[in-house]
Amino acid sequence: MKLASKLFFPVLFSLLLALTGCETDTGSGGGPTYVTIGTGGVTGVYYPTGGAISRIVNKKFDQYKIKATVESTGGSVYNINAVLNGDLQFGVAQSDRQYQAINGEKEWKEKGPQKDLRSVFSIHPESITLIAAAEAGINGIKDLKDKRVNLGNPGSGQLGNSQDAITAFGLAEGDLKAEYVKAVEAPGLIQDERLDAFFYTVGHPNGNIKEATSGRIKVKIVPIEGAELDALIKKFPYYAKSVVPGSMYPNAANSGDVPSFGVKATFVTSIKVSEDIVYAITKEIFDNFEDFKKLHPAYQVLTKESMLKGLSAPLHPGAVKYYKEAGLTQYIDPSLL
Ligand code: GLU
Repeated sequence: MKLASKLFFPVLFSLLLALTGCETDTGSGGGPTYVTIGTGGVTGVYYPTGGAISRIVNKKFDQYKIKATVESTGGSVYNINAVLNGDLQFGVAQSDRQYQAINGEKEWKEKGPQKDLRSVFSIHPESITLIAAAEAGINGIKDLKDKRVNLGNPGSGQLGNSQDAITAFGLAEGDLKAEYVKAVEAPGLIQDERLDAFFYTVGHPNGNIKEATSGRIKVKIVPIEGAELDALIKKFPYYAKSVVPGSMYPNAANSGDVPSFGVKATFVTSIKVSEDIVYAITKEIFDNFEDFKKLHPAYQVLTKESMLKGLSAPLHPGAVKYYKEAGLTQYIDPSLL
């Protein structure tokens, strides 16, 4: 073999690896392992969450040779499906969507239980947040009748929550002028007076609600409460009462805590992703917990214990390996281990 081709082949090979982004085992002495994290719209909390996780992990590139990147996506349902079909290695997904996927409910009813789905950890709490133009006369869900309301895009986690919320209060989608656009577009549409209200299942504070509350059109955070909500929470194990902290949005027309209901953001992967990669990511987030918490104000409430609650898919073996080493298994539902 001529010298030129001897040099050329290894270069070509690593270039191909880099281009296909295919997985190589960490520590095998090979090239870097590329992993992509599916998130949500850029003004939500999932997108910066993907950024925070990548930042912590990429700091240890020399040790693990993992290069994590972030993709803005349609949200939880998209992320779970993309993780399952191998387009993404990790995704942020609502705890209710994780539950439905592993149990073959809602979007997964026809396909059945998504047995390859694995949980890694929980992240921040998310509230079903209802924002309305202050002048639209909307003081509760029942007032959404005949209004222009964004329920969320297909692929989002939130669409199911908006549907559950209106149904619980006796409304059907046909009773509203329902829209199905991405959450990132909703604040602009309210300000352009093309929407009266929108739902967003999201952690607080976030850029989306800041944008919605900062324009010419005054907007308020609408309470979701009452016997109808109590019945909804009783019906579905993954919902719990929550509050939207109005104080985080000083330009909103109302202030103080606004009652609602919520879920948790969780970090998911597939059984097909290698143990080494999941172990490395889990270890870096938990070993650098205080640094991680500083990366977004929605993480203020996090504890290591809270990050192990709200999961329903079995834990990935790489995550279990770390939790055992770190003595954290006491906080975990034994059926997930
Ligand atoms: N919970 C939202 C969804 O999956 C995404 C929220 C966010 O991006 O922070 O629909």
